[in-house]
Parts: sequence; structure tokens; C-alpha cells
Amino acid sequence: MRILVVEDEPKVASFIRRALEEESYAVDVCADGQQGLDWAQSIDYDLIVLDLMLPGIPGLELLKQIRKAGVKTPVMILTARSEVDQRVKGLDAGADDYLTKPFAIEELLARARALLRRAGGVPSGILEVSDLVLNPVTREVTRGDQRIELTTKEYALLEYLMRNAGRVLTRPMITEHVWDLDFDTFTNVIDVYISYLRNKIDRGREQSLIQTVRGSGYVMRSDP
Ligand code: CA
Repeated sequence: MRILVVEDEPKVASFIRRALEEESYAVDVCADGQQGLDWAQSIDYDLIVLDLMLPGIPGLELLKQIRKAGVKTPVMILTARSEVDQRVKGLDAGADDYLTKPFAIEELLARARALLRRAGGVPSGILEVSDLVLNPVTREVTRGDQRIELTTKEYALLEYLMRNAGRVLTRPMITEHVWDLDFDTFTNVIDVYISYLRNKIDRGREQSLIQTVRGSGYVMRSDP
């Protein structure tokens, strides 16, 4: 899952980035409203965390413009405790949730999970494909009765595949949702990570869940 953080206070922005990256999200941070608007419209983010007081374009205006352009990505706005009016305007302009500064990072992470859960249409949050189970809260992955240990990127890739089970995912789609702007598009890193995952998830098992779709990309499904 890839998240855009539009926040002009460097300390707050890097604090949020670190916490989200620890949870395996791909994160792009931007300190300017205009750039945030450009990115939000050109990249298919899974969530946007948006400060309202920004240089360039104010957060509220950014929000109005992306909604007008048809961007449906969930948006969590960040406001100061005193900005009740801004919060109300933000929700009315299409924000899905808000958090008042200062906030506990655990709350931001929990609210992010809730927004992603709602957007993904999985109310319990637990992802299951056949006997493979992923819990986004504990970040535990099991297949059958076996616990599977994954690196941060392997976990992020698996979560994206499982959230989109049954759907063919192209390499550009995978890049867009699992890697951030620093990603080097000229490498075969996706194929490398798919093979890491296969080793841990599918190897030695009767049923392979990660399937290659020749000429297109990959799909996770339980039927051949
Ligand atoms: Ca600000």
C-alpha cells in the first residue's frame, strides 16, 4: 500500500514517514501543496495524509481539486486542535477522517489501517487466500499452521497481492502500490521479490497461490 503524506513541517513529516515505513507502507512525502496536488492526481495512492496549512496550495483546496478530478483515494486530514472550522470544512470537502495535532502515532497508524480496510472492502481486515492468512494489525502471516517470516518489502508485496486476489496485477501496478518515488524502474526488482515470496509461500506445497500471467504480470488465486 502506498501513502502520500503532504506535510510541510519536516519533523512531523519524517516522524510520520518513519512510522508508516516501519509498517511496510511505501511512502512519498511532500511539503508543498502544489506538488502534493500533482502527485495525488498522477499516482494511484491508497491513502493520503494531508496537513491543511501548507505553502503553495492550502490542503483544503488540494482536497477539493482532487475530489473534483475524480480521485477517490481515502484522505485523512491533519489539523490543529483549535481549527474546528477547518476540520468541518475538510470533512465536507471529501476528507474521510481527521486527526488533531499533536497526535499519538499509534492513532494515526490505526486510523490508516481502518481507512485502508474500508476502501478494500474487507471489514475484518484479515486477508485470506486459501490457507494463506495475513493479519494487517499484528502483521502475522501464516500458511496452514506454519508461521511465515517476511521482510518489510516482501510483506508489502504480499499484502498488495492478497488485497487484489483474483485480479491480474501488472508490474507497473505493483510498482505504483508497493514502491515509492525512489524506485528504479529499470530493474527487475519486482520479479526478484516475487521469487522471494514464492520461496516462502508456495515452495514445496501442493497448491501455488502466486501465479504468473504470461505477458501481463502476476495474480494471486487459489484455483489453477
Ligand atoms: Ca502545516
